[in-house]
This record gives sequence, C-alpha cells and structure tokens, in this order.
Amino acid sequence: MRVCVIGNGVAGSMVAERLSSRGVAVTLYTEEPYGFYSRIKLPQLLCDEEGLCALPSTREAPYLVHKAVKKIDRQKQEILLDDGETSPYDFLVLATGSRGRVLDAFANTKGVSTLRTLEDALLISQTLADPVVVLGGGLLGLEAALAILRKGYGVTVCEGASHILARQLDAKASKLLRVQLESDGLVINECIKATGKRVDQDNRIEALVVEGREDIPCKTLILSLGVNAETSLAKDADLEVDRGIVVDEKLRTSDEHIFAIGDCAQYKGQVPGILPVAIGMAQSVMATLLGETKDYIPPVLMTRFKDEKLEIVSVGDVSGASTNKLKDGRYEAYFVEDGKLKGALLYGSVENVAFLRSHYLKAVTPEEIAELLSF
Ligand SMILES: Cc1cc2nc3c(=O)[nH]c(=O)nc-3n(C[C@H](O)[C@H](O)[C@H](O)COP(=O)(O)OP(=O)(O)OC[C@H]3O[C@@H](n4cnc5c(N)ncnc54)[C@H](O)[C@@H]3O)c2cc1C
Repeated sequence: MRVCVIGNGVAGSMVAERLSSRGVAVTLYTEEPYGFYSRIKLPQLLCDEEGLCALPSTREAPYLVHKAVKKIDRQKQEILLDDGETSPYDFLVLATGSRGRVLDAFANTKGVSTLRTLEDALLISQTLADPVVVLGGGLLGLEAALAILRKGYGVTVCEGASHILARQLDAKASKLLRVQLESDGLVINECIKATGKRVDQDNRIEALVVEGREDIPCKTLILSLGVNAETSLAKDADLEVDRGIVVDEKLRTSDEHIFAIGDCAQYKGQVPGILPVAIGMAQSVMATLLGETKDYIPPVLMTRFKDEKLEIVSVGDVSGASTNKLKDGRYEAYFVEDGKLKGALLYGSVENVAFLRSHYLKAVTPEEIAELLSF
C-alpha cells in the first residue's frame, strides 16, 4: 500500500510518522522549508528570533519531501509536484490546513502580515515597528498582542464585534478581560469596522482607516481575522467542498481513496480549526489505514486562552441565558438548554474544567451547577 500525505502540520505529520513506524510506504509532502513545528507556540515567540529559529524539528524524517503538491489526478491516482514529477498513491491524505484571512485592501502592503506560519512570525519579528495594531480580538490576536506588548511596544487591538473573544466569552467575562488587559497597557477598540489603509511612498502601512472615527496610526499591522480551510487542491480535483473538504465518519472525502483531516476538513458541517480536532482526526485516519474499524468521534471543542497571568477556558455555545457567579475576579457561567450543558466558560480558575469535559452536551442538574458555583 502506498500512502501520500499532503501537509506537514500536526495532522499530516502524525499520520506519516505512525504509518511509517508500522512499515507502510508513506511519503509526506510539505511546501514549507522546515521540519515539523508547533504553530501554537508562534505568538509567544514573536520578537524572539532565536526561539523561532529553534522551533522546527531538526530531524529530517526519511519520508518527508519538501515539494508543494500542485494537482491531484484521481483517474490515475497520482499527484503532480511543483517540479513536474508525479507520485502514485493507493490512498491520499489531505492535511493541507488553513490560511490566515487577508482583506483585499491590505494585500501586498509592507508592514502587514497574518500570523499563520513560521515565516510570518519571523517576518513580523524582523520588521516590527511601533506602533502596532492587531486587527481581530480573537484568541490568536490577543495572544500575539500581549506577546508584543510585553516586549515594550505600543499595541492596539481592533475588534469588529461588540466585545473581544466574542465566540468564547459572554459580555460579562469579556468586560473583565478587557479591564485586565487595559490595565496591562493594551489599547482595545471594539465595534471597529476597518475600511482601508494609509501607506507611505514606499507602500508601507502608516495607519488603519476605520469607519466613523480617526485613522489609527500603525507601522506594523497584524491581521488576525480567522482562517479559511485550504481546499484548492480538493476543489480542483472535483471533490465535494463546502467551507472545508467534506468528509464522512471515516474522514473519507467524496473519493473513497482520499481522506481529509485537520483544519482543511469539514465534518458534520463544522470546520473548527483547532488542535484537538486535528489530532483526533489524525488518530482516526491512522487506525483506518492500519485496518482498524473505528469511526471518528469529535473531541470536546474546548478553547483555552493562554497567558502568564490569566487562565480562561470556554466550551460550546456561550450565548443566551446562563447561571453564573462572579467573586474576587473569578467568573463562571454555565449555559443549559433543555436540561443539557450546551456551553460554559471559566475565567480566572480552571478548577472545574474536568466537569466541562465530562458533562458537555450531557444532562446536568441545577444542584450540580450550584455546587460548581459554590466558590
Ligand atoms: C498562531 C497560532 C496559534 C494557535 N493556537 C492554538 C491553540 O492555542 N489551541 C488550538 O487548539 N489551536 C490553535 N491553533 C490552531 C492549530 O494550530 C491548528 O488547528 C492546527 O495547526 C491544524 O493542523 P493541520 O495539520 O490541520 O494544518 P496546518 O498546521 O495548517 O498544516 C498544514 C500544512 O500543509 C501545508 N500545505 C498546504 N497545501 C499544501 C500543498 N499543496 N503542498 C504541500 N504542502 C501544503 C501547509 O503549508 C502547512 O504546512 C493556532 C494556530 C495558529 C496559526
């Protein structure tokens, strides 16, 4: 059996390593010039070039090939590489991840970057100039903003929604976080609609232009506007693609010889774009390719805000009414619908995180919630 894996992120590298260790003929293709590295460490390592350069694995796996895949020929069951060579497969695993969203207005502008790859992080670190604006107040945007702030730069976060971390926090928790971050020195603007840019003669960013207020000066602009699943190869090969590459419970695409896993895959309408999903999908595909009959079971979709001073965990849907409590800077909210825990958030303490893992989308009683809130 010949297996080709496209993409050396966490999903693709796990599959290739495991299959290779079990004697399967596997080849892993990557368009990036590095060995495997963990993307989630990039925000903390901004401005630390030495740390960034030390991030990728130096062990060159024998099955890793540094070539981009340009096309899939499903009839011939082969892929076309960027140097014109082809490679046959019995099974193909698409682990092409996602790309940071770039608004057209900011494309090809000096001083403007997304933060998705090691190359992005190195570019930001090498060209960082005061003042810095981060467009997007989600998890990644805030982590990057804090890392840069702590290196002594002036940083403003601009968020389009009514509050930062709008997908993870309710308005009360978001306000607590905002007060905390502002006391650390971060400037936060919410309800911001960015409409364009001002640049100097060298096409370098000078200011973010926003609706209904003065331009916000910046010499570095980091776009943290979410991601789009990388589906171009799949689309070109006429596989079923929606927001991601559509897969079934075995993570098969609309072609039974092709699987899709990680950020690029859409399972049951969802494209979560988080690490536990990529790992869970990789484990499931390894098992299938090794002949085990195990369906993919999605993990609990939990996100964690990682900061040296503060811990926040959020799971599921945190909109609507909740049972909550705020005491001494600790806040917890539980969102129950039809007797089931549809979402929860923990701010300032993660003591109750095990309960979220075990009870998410399951029945909970008012007594259990009262017990959790007895801090
Ligand atoms: C800065 C940052 C911080 C994050 N923090 C967290 C966090 O705290 N918690 C969390 O759960 N998630 C976090 N995430 C998300 C998490 O990193 C992703 O869910 C995870 O990396 C997805 O892994 P993947 O293998 O599916 O895709 P990726 O890691 O995106 O890897 C895909 C690879 O495929 C390559 N590729 C694409 N097309 C081709 C082609 N045609 N030929 C060859 N190679 C190709 C790409 O270059 C890339 O190397 C973060 C992401 C970023 C960017």
